[in-house]
Amino acid sequence: MKNSLSYKLYLSLLKYGSILNVLGTVKSKDIILCYHDLGSNVWDFSVDKSEFEVQMNLLQKKYNIVGISDLLNKQHKNTKPNAAVSFDDGYESVYKIAYPVLKKIGAAGTVFVIGSSKSNPNMSLKLLSIEQIKELHKNGWEIGWHTNKHVSSVNESKDSLYMDLKISKSAYEKKLGLKLNYFAYPFGKYNKNVETIVKKAGFLGAFTVDGDAIDLAKGIYRLSRVTVSKSITKQHFENLITPIGLKINHFFTNGWKYADYFLKR
Ligand SMILES: [Zn+2]
Repeated sequence: MKNSLSYKLYLSLLKYGSILNVLGTVKSKDIILCYHDLGSNVWDFSVDKSEFEVQMNLLQKKYNIVGISDLLNKQHKNTKPNAAVSFDDGYESVYKIAYPVLKKIGAAGTVFVIGSSKSNPNMSLKLLSIEQIKELHKNGWEIGWHTNKHVSSVNESKDSLYMDLKISKSAYEKKLGLKLNYFAYPFGKYNKNVETIVKKAGFLGAFTVDGDAIDLAKGIYRLSRVTVSKSITKQHFENLITPIGLKINHFFTNGWKYADYFLKR
């Protein structure tokens, strides 16, 4: 995917296309970033520590970095728009790298954990321990659910998805001694049926990786996040977090949906 023509086009559009921002007075909206692992691991979703630090500093210049609940409840009335930083799967690097980097700039993030370590999507990486998750939470981090077995919600039967989101989640909440109020769709995949089950299971909101700014009009079970991968350089990132950059990103990250749409016709 990294070397595909469309991905190259995406990166160059991101690099130069955002120059269009100077033409308009497009107002920035609130955004939520989605990371996975941090560090020098050979994985598209492992972002170097130094790159992450640069990105957080750039983010802080344009946005107020707040928690997911504060962002959704509009607790912060500032001149700058709000941004939240989230991590999927719950790798140990969230504790070892993201936590201190964000702490240094007075911010905290959100981590969406998976219940079963046997279902780790990247077996070469360690997942957070219960103790590490608890400590993050004590220090202002929000903890959300990302399913027990990291299965694509759209391929699960209604019953098994409900079991995961209700029963497995409750068992994990007991282990942690805290509530998991928000859900991140594995692989960013969702549909109307999945949304209904997520709601029924009692979640206060659910997050996609649709790559756009937050649009509350779409509903609280379709909250868009912007995935940041290893190939995003400083210049890409600077442009990515602008209104035009987010539109370009949204178009390219929704390829699977457009493909689905045309295949069904
Ligand atoms: Zn995941």
